[in-house]
Amino acid sequence: ARIWTLAKQPVGIPRKEDFSCIEKEVSECKNGDVIVEAEYLSVDPYMCFMAKKVPFGTPMIGTQVSRVIESKNPDLPVGSYVVAQAGWCTHARLPAKSFQIDNWFKRSEILIPLEPLPRSLGLGVIGMPGNTAYFGLLEVCKPKAGETVLVNAAAGAVGSTVVQIAKLKGCKVIAFAGSDEKVAWLKELGADHAYNYKTTSVTDCLSEAAPEKINCYFDNVGGKFTADVLPHMADYGRVAVCGSISNYTNDDHSDPYCDPVVKAKKLHIEGLNVNRWSDWTQGLEQMKEWVLEGKVKYRETVYEGFEKMPEAFIGLFSGDNIGKAVVKA
Ligand code: NDP
Repeated sequence: ARIWTLAKQPVGIPRKEDFSCIEKEVSECKNGDVIVEAEYLSVDPYMCFMAKKVPFGTPMIGTQVSRVIESKNPDLPVGSYVVAQAGWCTHARLPAKSFQIDNWFKRSEILIPLEPLPRSLGLGVIGMPGNTAYFGLLEVCKPKAGETVLVNAAAGAVGSTVVQIAKLKGCKVIAFAGSDEKVAWLKELGADHAYNYKTTSVTDCLSEAAPEKINCYFDNVGGKFTADVLPHMADYGRVAVCGSISNYTNDDHSDPYCDPVVKAKKLHIEGLNVNRWSDWTQGLEQMKEWVLEGKVKYRETVYEGFEKMPEAFIGLFSGDNIGKAVVKA
C-alpha cells in the first residue's frame, strides 16, 4: 500500500512538504477481515486541525470509497464497495469490528447502492457532507418556510447542499463564497442573494439582502465573518456552528460569539457534529432521492491520481474546489 503520512506539523496553511508518501505491506486478511483498494478518496477541512494535533509520521486519516479485493467476511464479498475509514492510502485491511464502531470518524460502512449515480457521491452529497447539511440545517437551524437562511463557504460540499435544502423548505437564502464563478453557480442553485465575500463587505451585503434580519445562520467559516453576521441576526435566531475553516489555518482564535450580541438577540447557538445522528442511512436515502429527482444538484472537483492527495487537501484552504473535492486513485 502507498500511504500519505504527516512529515511535519503544518503551520498556517498546510504545504506539500508537510506530507510524505511511504510504502507498507498490508497485513494478512484474517477471519472477518477484508482488504480494500481505494477508488475515490476524500479530502475534508477537519483533517487540518487533526494534522496539527498528531505527531509527525502519523498516517493521514480520512474516508474513501473502496472496493473489496480480498474477503474473509461473508457480508462483504469481493467486489462489494465500502465507505472505509482507511485514511490516505491505496490499500488497507478492515477488521469486521470497524463496521460496528459508534463514531463516524472511525466507522467504515457498506456503500449504499448509488447506481446510476457515481460512487464518489458516497463521499459528498450522499455521504458525510450531505448528511451534515441535511441534519445540521433541519435539526439545528429548524428553518420554517418564509424565514431567511444565511450560509457561508456556500459553494462547497456542505454549503451547496444547505442552500438547496433551505430552498426546498421554502426559505429565502443568502449565500457567500469566494469567487464570481462560485457566486454564479449559487444563483443557479436558487440562492436569492449570492455574494463574493472577497470583493464585498459582508455587513453591506447583509444590510441590502436581509433588512428583515436572519433567522438561521449555518456557519462553516467562523472568525471575523461570523462577528460581522451576528448583528444581522433576528431575535431568537438559530446558529448552527458547523465549522470554522477561517480558524483552521491561522492562530487567531478570537471568539466571534461575543456575549453582548448573543444575549441581546437571545440567539440559540449550537455546535453540530456528524456523530450525533442515529438515523444516518435515512439521511443518505433522502439525499439520494433528491439528487435522483434533480431537486439537489451537486458538483465535484476531482483530482486524478493518489499522488494528488496533498494538493487536493491544500486546495480546500484557498477555495480551489467547487462542490466536493475528491481524489480518484
Ligand atoms: P468545502 O467543500 O466547503 O471546502 C472548503 C471551502 O471553504 C473552500 O472551498 C473555500 O471556499 C472555503 N474557505 C477556505 N478557507 C476559508 C476562509 N479562510 N474563509 C472563508 N472561507 C474559506 O468543505 P466542506 O463542505 O467539507 O466543509 C465546510 C465546513 O463544514 C468546514 O468548516 C468543515 O470543517 C465543516 N464540517 C463540519 C462537520 C461537522 O460535523 N460539524 C462535518 C463536515 C464539515 P471559498 O472559495 O468560498 O472561500
